Amino acid sequence: MTPLAEDITRYRAAHERVLGRIEAAAARVARDAGSVQLVGVSKTVPLEQLRAAVAAGITVLGENRVQEAMSKIAGLPSAEWHLIGQLQGNKAGRALEFFDVIQSVDSVGLAERLSRLSSQVGGSPQRVLLQVNVDADPAKAGFLPGSLDEALSRLLELTGLQVEGLMTVGRYVERAEDARPTFVSLRRLSERLRAGHPGLGGQLSMGMSLDFEIAVEEGSTIVRVGRALFGDRLVVT
Ligand SMILES: *Cc1c(COP(=O)(O)O)cnc(C)c1O
Repeated sequence: MTPLAEDITRYRAAHERVLGRIEAAAARVARDAGSVQLVGVSKTVPLEQLRAAVAAGITVLGENRVQEAMSKIAGLPSAEWHLIGQLQGNKAGRALEFFDVIQSVDSVGLAERLSRLSSQVGGSPQRVLLQVNVDADPAKAGFLPGSLDEALSRLLELTGLQVEGLMTVGRYVERAEDARPTFVSLRRLSERLRAGHPGLGGQLSMGMSLDFEIAVEEGSTIVRVGRALFGDRLVVT
């Protein structure tokens, strides 16, 4: 099905607005906006709408559920797809098959499984990020910051994975500015870890619709933006 021109126009405008805000935030701290990748978080957005979004230039998409994402990815294989939600071990094979980047690796066990499966399939190592629970929020998944030093000694030996960096989901904040300390913590953690583990990549996936400009000011290289591109979600996920 061909996307509707009016949908493409709407997404193009939303995309340009978000890119403009990324550029302004980068300029405030003398960063190159080209070093920030925008992932459009498309959970709950149906495939027909996503066709329009991709036609409008939103070509990197993020989904939080493997099951929901598979038919969208099959329908839009030209986009780059990132998994940003918790991954159950029994869906690891599907995740490898469908996603270009798995941002939500949150345990050594999951990483070992992904690496093993990826090596069996062959080809290039699976691109992953390690999800970090920066604020030690009991409601959130991710490595605790204090556990990463030891975990990395094992994770960086896994030949089926390419560990490109760290990702965090900030705690809910009323004001975007309140998210800043979380972003600063993730950046400093990355710097400290990379000094001891040169194999760890420097990507920092942090910032969502409400706080991505603050994240860019604090060094984010990947922002995950849903509502500011696609509008409010009717379903809470
Ligand atoms: C939903 C989601 C986002 C995007 O949130 P918005 O507020 O819509 O920008 C980013 N990251 C993760 C992990 C998400 O689940």
